[in-house]
Amino acid sequence: MSVSVKSAKEIELMRTSCKILAEVHEELGKALRPGMSTLDVDILAERLIREHDCIPNFLHYNGFPGSVCVSINDEVVHGIPKKSRIIKEGDIVSLDCGCIYKGYHSDAARTYGVGEISPELEKLIEETKNSFYAGIKKAVAGNHLNDICTAIEDYITPFGYGIVRELTGHGIGTCLHEDPAIPNFAMNKKGIRLVPGMTLAIEPMINLGRGDVIFHDDGWTCTTEDGLPSAHYENTILITEDGEPEILTIL
Ligand code: MG
Ligand code: MG
Repeated sequence: MSVSVKSAKEIELMRTSCKILAEVHEELGKALRPGMSTLDVDILAERLIREHDCIPNFLHYNGFPGSVCVSINDEVVHGIPKKSRIIKEGDIVSLDCGCIYKGYHSDAARTYGVGEISPELEKLIEETKNSFYAGIKKAVAGNHLNDICTAIEDYITPFGYGIVRELTGHGIGTCLHEDPAIPNFAMNKKGIRLVPGMTLAIEPMINLGRGDVIFHDDGWTCTTEDGLPSAHYENTILITEDGEPEILTIL
């Protein structure tokens, strides 16, 4: 397995790709409201990405028909945008998308509550985000990949939530999905040593109930097996020379 280490010039391109994506997410979050279809979200996402002279990297990726994955409630990830799928008050909606800027990819996901949601769901969304931050505290040069994975699991376990084990984070650069795979739970190995210039997409997918998931026969949609809601939080980060990682996909 070879993990790409980006040059200073490549890092600048990654930064630009990621900042644009952060702006796109900001706009999508503001636009989300009851009555929108998941296709409406997709049309807006594609327009915003292209307005910034980027290409939506999810569109046609292994045949995916949209520019953003819109996953509602028990849908964990990979929800296909549809005209018939309407977002309702009280839903939680995960938006996952990315851009290509001058050949460099970005990838980030957010989960939003639409209108009023239950305190239980607010907490699920918040702790999913917090588990990302627990993980990236360990995303320090000289540490090993499993330090990140273990930190995410250790953070989430006390809440009794389920960690999705079938899907992982990943390296990112000139490809959307590069090595290494980054599980949100401890591996039985140390994994690669983290080196400045590595860019990684860290993305906990956390279920209110058990971690088991089902992959549907549309070839994409992944839902929780127990039907309970799921949250997703992802950023593209950079391993730096001086300790703290840089989160590239936030403004
Ligand atoms: Mg993503
Ligand atoms: Mg990703």
